[in-house]
Order: sequence, then structure tokens, then C-alpha cells
Amino acid sequence: MPNSAKPRVLTGDTPTGRLHLGHYVGSIENRLRLQDQYDCFFLLANMHAFTTRPDRHAEIRADTIEIVKDWLACGIDPSRSTIVLQTEVPAIAELTWYFAMLLPFNRVMRNPTLKDEIKDKGLGDTHSFGFPMYAVGQCADILAFRPRWVPVGEDQVAHIEMCREVARRFDITYCSVDSKADDQDFATLGGVFPIPEVMVGRVGRLIGTDGKQKMSKSLNNAIFLSDTPRQVKKKIGAMYPGQSRDPDQPGDPDINPVFDYADIFIKDEAFVADLRERYRKGDNLGDGHVKAFVIDAVNELLDPIRAKRAEYEGPGGDDTVIDIIRTGTAAANEVAEETLYMAKDAMGLGFGERTLEWE
Ligand code: ATP
Ligand code: MG
Repeated sequence: MPNSAKPRVLTGDTPTGRLHLGHYVGSIENRLRLQDQYDCFFLLANMHAFTTRPDRHAEIRADTIEIVKDWLACGIDPSRSTIVLQTEVPAIAELTWYFAMLLPFNRVMRNPTLKDEIKDKGLGDTHSFGFPMYAVGQCADILAFRPRWVPVGEDQVAHIEMCREVARRFDITYCSVDSKADDQDFATLGGVFPIPEVMVGRVGRLIGTDGKQKMSKSLNNAIFLSDTPRQVKKKIGAMYPGQSRDPDQPGDPDINPVFDYADIFIKDEAFVADLRERYRKGDNLGDGHVKAFVIDAVNELLDPIRAKRAEYEGPGGDDTVIDIIRTGTAAANEVAEETLYMAKDAMGLGFGERTLEWE
């Protein structure tokens, strides 16, 4: 069972699709490493999925369950970590409101990650009013658990910085913490919210199979953890190597995204260094050969994940996942409610506490 004496970690994923290799190297590896030392909370940001696709509710529900299967398949262990369903943690929605008042509107809209998403996802100026709210909501996702660390990919660093700003502003405004205090002292000086720290993964931004944008669930450029060996072969096989060349012509590995994958997924560094050298010289090394090595390495990583995932794919698998979600969310609500009432007390809103019951 989660151990509340340990410092906490909070991170999560939006159920807008299944998990991909970018999630793995950007955040999941860190989550797996932190599970023993920290009290980890992993959030299914299903409310945020509605900010870009309110009409695709059936998909959001299916993806919520699939993402938990991906987590379990990777080794996230619900007996050590807490799996949290955002829409059943009312404290998060309530904190979002209070935090929205602590952030200037233009500060939110200038957030570079939001701007990139508006561009990359083709949201233009027709995105919903709720879309930028997710950035404020994410501050509440995190701070509801008062974590020490937030393991994420590079694109989230701007969001975490905003979350740190909200935490500071709250503590200064409502808890009389000195505005010049050091971040690490906010909690001991009486702040409700410790200032959380970002932890970026081994690869902060894995490029997609398009060789251009970051690998993303919504950009059709992802290799999913649940892809079959055939799908992996097809996706990597179709990657544009950044140049056209013959095996005996010199090439530039540095502009070939397949080499990015080679660096990240082939464990033998000397072997990859040799591949690069041969590619550079035109030493009888075709793009197909490089891809074949990368395909093998990716499949080697995914094979045990596929095997574990299969345990949840049969009859009863979804029910098992739903039980895990319910148990985790009940435990998460204890922490989030405690935080909410600490915050409300500080804001002069302490008129007695409710109890949440979940049938
Ligand atoms: P969406 O397209 O819906 O935004 P996404 O693929 O960007 O999906 P998120 O749920 O937004 O995935 O991100 C979950 C976590 O995975 C975040 O911590 C994010 O930084 C990290 N992450 C996502 N894509 C990558 C990537 N290509 N490289 C490294 N980390 C990534
Ligand atoms: Mg994203």
C-alpha cells in the first residue's frame, strides 16, 4: 500500500490515445525508478482529454482503460503506487478555480506549450474556452498531492514552471510566506504548497516517426507500446532518413532520425558509434540495415511489455483495471481532500469539512 511517510511524486497522462515510446523514455522510466523510494500518484487526466475532444467521450473512456493497461504492462505496480482518475477527485476541479484567480490570463495564453499545441493539433482560434484551462487544471492536478517531484517530458517544463508560480503565489498570498523565501523553504515557513520540482526523463523529447514533431498520441507519428512487431517494423521501415543515399555513398547520421532512435534504444553504444561511422563513410550500410537494428531493439524493449499487457487483454481485464482505478482513486481522494481543506482554511473558507463517499 502507498506509504504516506515518503515524499510524494505526481505525474500522469491524458487519455487521448495509448502510450507511446515518447512517454516511456520521457516519463515512465522515471516513474518505475521512483516507485520504491517515493509515494507515487499516477493521474489519468481524463477531464483534460475533453478539452480537445468533447465529442469523443467513448474513445476517452476506452483510452483511460487502455492507458492503465499500458502502465501495468510497463511495471507500474498498484500495490506500491496510486492510480488516480481525475474526474473522481473533486478537489482537483475546485482547486483549479482558486488557482485560475492567481494566474494572469495573458500569462496562461503565453505558455509556450499551449501555443505549440494550438499549432501542432491544428486548433487554430476555434479551440474551446476550456482548452487553455487545462494548463491551470494541471497546476491543481499536481498541487492537490503536494508532491516533491513531477517526472515529465520536456514539453511539460513550462507547465510545471507555471505550477511552481501558482504554489508560490498561493503561499505568499494566503499563508504569509515571505515573497523572497527560497523555494525549498516554502513549506517549513507555513505554506500549504511545497514548491514541486520537475524531473525530465532520459530523453526529454523523442521525435516522432515523421522525423519532425515530437512523438505524440494525437499527431499520427507514434510507435505505441501496444503496437505489434509488424506495426513497429512498418512504422520504422517507412521513416524518411532525412536524405537519399546509396549504401556506398557517404551519409549524415546526424540528420537521420532513425539514428536518434538507434542512440536511444540500442543498448550497445560502441555498436551504434560504429554504425554512425560506417554510415558517414558510405561503408556498405544501407538505411534498411540501420532500420532493421532499430526495429530489433525497439521490439526487444516492447516484448516483455506486450507479454504483461496480454494478461489484461482477456475477459475480465477491463474489470480488473476498473477495480484498480477505484481503489487508487479512493486513496487519492484522502490526500486531495486534506490538501483542499488546508487550502480553504488558509483562504478563510474553512466552514467545516465534508466527507466523500464513493459507492
Ligand atoms: P497529446 O498528443 O494528447 O498531447 P502526448 O503524446 O503529448 O499526447 P501527454 O499525455 O500530453 O502525451 O504527455 C504525457 C507525458 O509524456 C508528459 O510528461 C509528456 O511530457 C511526456 N511525453 C509526451 N510525448 C513525449 C515525447 N515525444 N518525448 C518525451 N516525453 C513525452
Ligand atoms: Mg501532450
